Amino acid sequence: MKRKIIFILLIVVFSSIELADKFYVFVDGLNMRSCPSVNCSVVKTLHFKDVVESVGKAEYTPSFDWIETEEGWVALQYIDYLPMKINGNLPVDFDMNYSEFPLPPEYEPDDLVEIPEEYCIKSGLKLRKEAKEALIQMLNAAKKDGFDIAVASAYRNWFYQRNLYLSAIKEHGPDQTAVAKPGRSEHQLGLAVDLARKDKECLLLKCFKDTPEYKWLVENSYKFGFIQPYLKYNILYMEEPWHFRYVGKEDAKEFYETYIKGNDALQY
Ligand SMILES: [Zn+2]
Repeated sequence: MKRKIIFILLIVVFSSIELADKFYVFVDGLNMRSCPSVNCSVVKTLHFKDVVESVGKAEYTPSFDWIETEEGWVALQYIDYLPMKINGNLPVDFDMNYSEFPLPPEYEPDDLVEIPEEYCIKSGLKLRKEAKEALIQMLNAAKKDGFDIAVASAYRNWFYQRNLYLSAIKEHGPDQTAVAKPGRSEHQLGLAVDLARKDKECLLLKCFKDTPEYKWLVENSYKFGFIQPYLKYNILYMEEPWHFRYVGKEDAKEFYETYIKGNDALQY
């Protein structure tokens, strides 16, 4: 009899371990609530880098998605899995989009260099050295073909990304797919750029897709090691025709041949 109880207890312990996930809070002053709604009473207030553990239950409501912890409910929009542990710089082909864990707030590549202002629509933009050199070759080649393309955004640190994300969910609601959570943006890798026409027409707008500059990038960016990860039918974010990510020439060619070449339906 006693053995049976121990056995049952073990199953309970193991099943709860299997269901539970540890999350960290990436904002300051997040309210844990007694039930999954902003109208429920506040159990306690959580702070940046606090860790909460899910008991495996989630509720999806029109305002927020919630997970249950031992003490109360927390909105999923303000937490994420514990960040990955990173030593040194990540490889240039690292795939942020398929990573289970976010980048830690401290992750900043140590080979970031400034992109010369003549290639940008604002000053002080940075990329990792290898990506910056490939970018300049690409923008020079575009110019030679008659297209004046400039950088609108490049490396963004974790805290800057958090501000963008919080503004986006405040303005467009928790289901917005325009801005990545902090630690989930390719811009923090120092390998992504948002490109625009130098005259800023269609800057970060869908109509950039209709410009000859965009068409040039679609056909040529892979030759310089850049891909366009957020195509029309990607499942992560809204379509972002301006967002290009450096992965190196070999991977970019493979991406081009798989998703772009002869596959106009995906692209246009
Ligand atoms: Zn971008």
